[in-house]
Order: sequence, then structure tokens, then C-alpha cells
Amino acid sequence: MNACTTLKPGTPCDFMSPKGCTYPGGACMEIIDKCEGCGHIMECNGKKFCSVYPNPAAKWRRGVCNFATHVKAEVPKDESGKKINPLKAAKRAARGH
Ligand code: SF4
Repeated sequence: MNACTTLKPGTPCDFMSPKGCTYPGGACMEIIDKCEGCGHIMECNGKKFCSVYPNPAAKWRRGVCNFATHVKAEVPKDESGKKINPLKAAKRAARGH
């Protein structure tokens, strides 16, 4: 893994190549409000980034970020309070019962 040479200098990163950052846009994006409190936030040159994902806003697009340490994704439950397996629920819905 190469070390970042853009916004998080020295941080090992899968997107870093010998020619520079290969992430779309050429660099990491800053965290968003929902990230505040997460243990993966790192500060570089006065800006806050995520240490495990280059585009925090994208991680929250479909609900809670799955890497977040400060919030847990809600597990869907049925009327009796039992956890619902989303795959089984989708199959049941497809069967019509
Ligand atoms: S792990 Fe998720 S919540 Fe935490 S800083 Fe990164 S993008 Fe934000």
C-alpha cells in the first residue's frame, strides 16, 4: 500500500499509486456532520477526514455508515420485536406471504 501524498500525507492508502491519488477527484473528501463523534475521524492540516473511506458523504447516502463507531445501523424488527433478516423478508414478500 502506498502512502498518501495529497491531503493525508504519509497515511497508507489503497487509492494511492506511484502516479498519485487514483480516487475520483484526485483526493479524499472531508467528513460530513453525521460523522462527528466517529473514531475514524482524522485531522490533517486543519481539515477533518475519514481514516477508512475517502468519501464520507457517500457512506451515509443509504443510511448509517457501516464503518461508524459512534452510531449503529438500526436492525429492522417485526411487530413482536424479533430481528428481521432482510433477505428472508424480501423472499417472503416475493412469495406473497
Ligand atoms: S467511518 Fe463513516 S462515520 Fe466514521 S468518519 Fe468515516 S465515513 Fe464518517
